[in-house]
Amino acid sequence: MEHMVDKMTILVCGGAGFIGSNFVRHMIEKYPKAHIVCFDALTYSGNKDNLKNLPKDRFTFVKGDIADSASVARVFKKYQPEYVVNFAAETHVDRSIHGETLEFVQANVLGTTVLLEAVKNSPTVKKFVHVSTDEVYGSLSLRGGKFTERSPLAPNSPYAASKAAGDLMVRSFFVTYGVPVVITRSSNNYGPYQHPEKLIPYSILRLLAGKTIVLYGDGKYVRDWLHVEDHCSGIELALFKGKPGEVYNIGASDEVDNLTLAKKLVQHMGKEKSAIEFVKDRPGHDRRYALDAGKIRRELGWKPKHSFEQSFAPTVQWYLDNQSWVTRAMMRGNVNAHIV
Ligand code: NAD
Repeated sequence: MEHMVDKMTILVCGGAGFIGSNFVRHMIEKYPKAHIVCFDALTYSGNKDNLKNLPKDRFTFVKGDIADSASVARVFKKYQPEYVVNFAAETHVDRSIHGETLEFVQANVLGTTVLLEAVKNSPTVKKFVHVSTDEVYGSLSLRGGKFTERSPLAPNSPYAASKAAGDLMVRSFFVTYGVPVVITRSSNNYGPYQHPEKLIPYSILRLLAGKTIVLYGDGKYVRDWLHVEDHCSGIELALFKGKPGEVYNIGASDEVDNLTLAKKLVQHMGKEKSAIEFVKDRPGHDRRYALDAGKIRRELGWKPKHSFEQSFAPTVQWYLDNQSWVTRAMMRGNVNAHIV
């Protein structure tokens, strides 16, 4: 899909994180006339290393917090964006459970609302895409169906609850003020530039250090894996073709449980099965997520290009080839304090 507008300014909030930085590169490559403004607070998971070598005339970085209405107003006034995409959030479930809950509410609920106010007051914004998660729907049983956009919101972790609250604010700004919003809800992403506190990069790091991979409970927690590039192409479609007020699920129907993933990784890295260790379960752990992405396929023509089977090995290789990036990213996050 090519969007036909000649010039446009896209404000990408949270563009220094994992998915946001992949999205910035995706859009810079695909739209030679687009100007991307990345607005990011550079928390422990935001990393300017993720945004190296971008063209200076088409990419601007502004450090700022989406929950700070004065900074947000300044960036909207200065750059007059036509499009806004919000990735900015606190994202690590374990941190939301262990002591950082208020930071999640601040960024994911208040921050989202501050952005909505700015979009409402903007004379230029044509579309605001709010990037959300399948975790807002709660948990499925191992043999249950899949979440559709009509599934009730039933979040279980403080992270998921803060994202669901943000989604509800987004919805209310459409219904109340007619703000042109779209919500995307994706499943678990994998690919390059993911912060090393998350399952795949963290497990690679542990194996490299001669340690075990640690899995919660019985390890049979199913996630529906989506390559980050496929997520970015879905967000691009939602931005240019999504209908205001609508929600679109983005998932590749690639369900894999954590134990299977760990076994695959252990094999790939030439380690023994004994390198997998089971630890006490996470409280409120959702058993399974799976998304029905029929709506975005049918209505916007989205199709994933990657399968987990084929794209897992290149993803692992990226972390092995970029260990200095991993080390630097990890030092920013006090990672060991948050993962058992
Ligand atoms: P990430 O933690 O890698 O990046 C988050 C980014 O937001 C960082 O650059 C951080 O500095 C920035 N940020 C945090 N709080 C901010 C604030 N108050 N103001 C400005 N910037 C702030 O996260 P990610 O994995 O890239 O996730 C991006 C979005 O996608 C999040 O909204 C997340 O809920 C959603 N999502 C992620 C996944 C996944 O598998 N990673 C799946 C579904 C949805």
